[in-house]
Amino acid sequence: MIAFGPVPSRRLGFSIGINHIPPKHCSYSCVYCQVGRTDHLIIKPKEFLSVKEIVLSVEQKIIETQNKGQPIDYLSFVPDGEPTLDAHLGEEIEALKSFGYPIAVISNATLIDQAEIRQILNKANWVSIKIDSVQEEIWRKINRPNRRLNLEIILKGMLDFAREYSGELVTESMLIEGINDDEVSNIRLAEFLWKLKPQKSYLAIPIRPPAENRVFPPDSLTLQKIKQIISSSVPSTICLFDAEEDQFIATGEITKDILSITSVHPIREAALRKMLSKSGVDWNVVEKLVSEKRLIKQVHQNIVFYRRNPDHI
Ligand code: SF4
Repeated sequence: MIAFGPVPSRRLGFSIGINHIPPKHCSYSCVYCQVGRTDHLIIKPKEFLSVKEIVLSVEQKIIETQNKGQPIDYLSFVPDGEPTLDAHLGEEIEALKSFGYPIAVISNATLIDQAEIRQILNKANWVSIKIDSVQEEIWRKINRPNRRLNLEIILKGMLDFAREYSGELVTESMLIEGINDDEVSNIRLAEFLWKLKPQKSYLAIPIRPPAENRVFPPDSLTLQKIKQIISSSVPSTICLFDAEEDQFIATGEITKDILSITSVHPIREAALRKMLSKSGVDWNVVEKLVSEKRLIKQVHQNIVFYRRNPDHI
């Protein structure tokens, strides 16, 4: 279940997700991560899956999706961790291009100071980089990086990448109440984005259950102010403040589809019910997965979510 979806999103339309990193290998352990805390806080790329396994899984998902008459806008690397930690990412992007769909990579950009990582990302058509804060103390609080990472070096790497990259570069910043939602933090972020000049800047809030319970979104007045500050640097600043997941589509075996999507993307109960009803499948399937402990039911801000149990892969 490497390839999953198609997943609907405002950024990429309908994309087939590629989960090529086992949980949970990342260079960050963000307080808001919807995949939970990082067990393997690494910064050296490793071999996880073979290129062949990934290509076959994506090919099968493309065929299933096409057979259902569903659109595919992107093939996107959006794993249970940081995509550039996969030592074969460059070969995978090259191989997947043969399917004729644009390739997207959602990265935390922690390795972007390395020329070879920038060359790999340059192969993708669309790259999103994470910038939650440009201030050391706040960066440590939110992203909880591997101790060998250095924020100044990462920010310089981002600027180098922005100069070299020929595809569509966007940024994503997660806003957390009481941590990075103050005026000064966002003015500093806006100053950096002014230099970076991404095509778009996305502002997000923790909608799905975060790794740490104490994580909440800022109030709506604060969010409006932040949007004003950021859009003074990046005219195309887009807020991702609502759930955008009502159109999940099952393409193959329903149990596999539920588990592969919820592995990287916890789903609200309402969206899951819609997905099952479109496929003519009874809710008992979900109850069975919960009773088998393969799916976890979680309540976040009074909304019920379902996510795959990472201890039951
Ligand atoms: S949110 Fe992304 S970068 Fe942060 S810990 Fe989770 S997988 Fe890693």
